[in-house]
Parts: sequence; C-alpha cells; structure tokens
Amino acid sequence: MTMHFISGAFHPGLNTTVRRGLEWFQKGLLPGDTLTLCVCPRRDDHTPIGEAKVAFVMAARIETIPNELMAYEHEPSCRTKEGLLDAMRKVLGDVRPDEVVTVIGFERE
Ligand SMILES: [Zn+2]
Repeated sequence: MTMHFISGAFHPGLNTTVRRGLEWFQKGLLPGDTLTLCVCPRRDDHTPIGEAKVAFVMAARIETIPNELMAYEHEPSCRTKEGLLDAMRKVLGDVRPDEVVTVIGFERE
C-alpha cells in the first residue's frame, strides 16, 4: 500500500502519522506490512521515497493519543495536539479534538 504525505520530514527509527477516520483499519493495514512512502505536498506530484514497515495501527481520538506517542510524529510541527489539529485543519477543514483517527507507526527500511 502507498501512503501519501504532505511533509517529507521523517526521522530515524519509529515515526507516526495520524490519519482521519478508520480508513487504514478498513484497508486492513497490519503490523509487519510494508508501506510505500510517497511525498506529495501539492497532491498532484507524487514522489515515492522508499518503503517502511508498519509497527502498529491504533484507533484513537485525537485528544486520547498518548502524549508520549506524539514525540514520534514524523512532522515536527505536529508533535503537540495543538500543532496536529492546526495541520489537520489546514488540509481537512474543521477537525474536532474528539474526532476518531488512526495512528500508524512505521519504521523506514
Ligand atoms: Zn503521493
């Protein structure tokens, strides 16, 4: 499966990304699966940058994501709940703190 990112900021080891809704659960993404990472800030210029192995797939509400986990967010500006909400709102419009999301943990290969 290919996962698209607006920001190509990744760090060594575990990275996380937060996606609205349960779409990635419904796609059947599971730990151990391989993801192709694609960076496409404008959503029409797709640049696959490599593969990653899925570490975990977790349903949460934004406000219930453990703060300890926020430190692993791939995008530095999204490592606080406020920063994450701001970033999601820029792309998705209104996003509430109690909104259901899927947190995906992955490691670059
Ligand atoms: Zn893409």
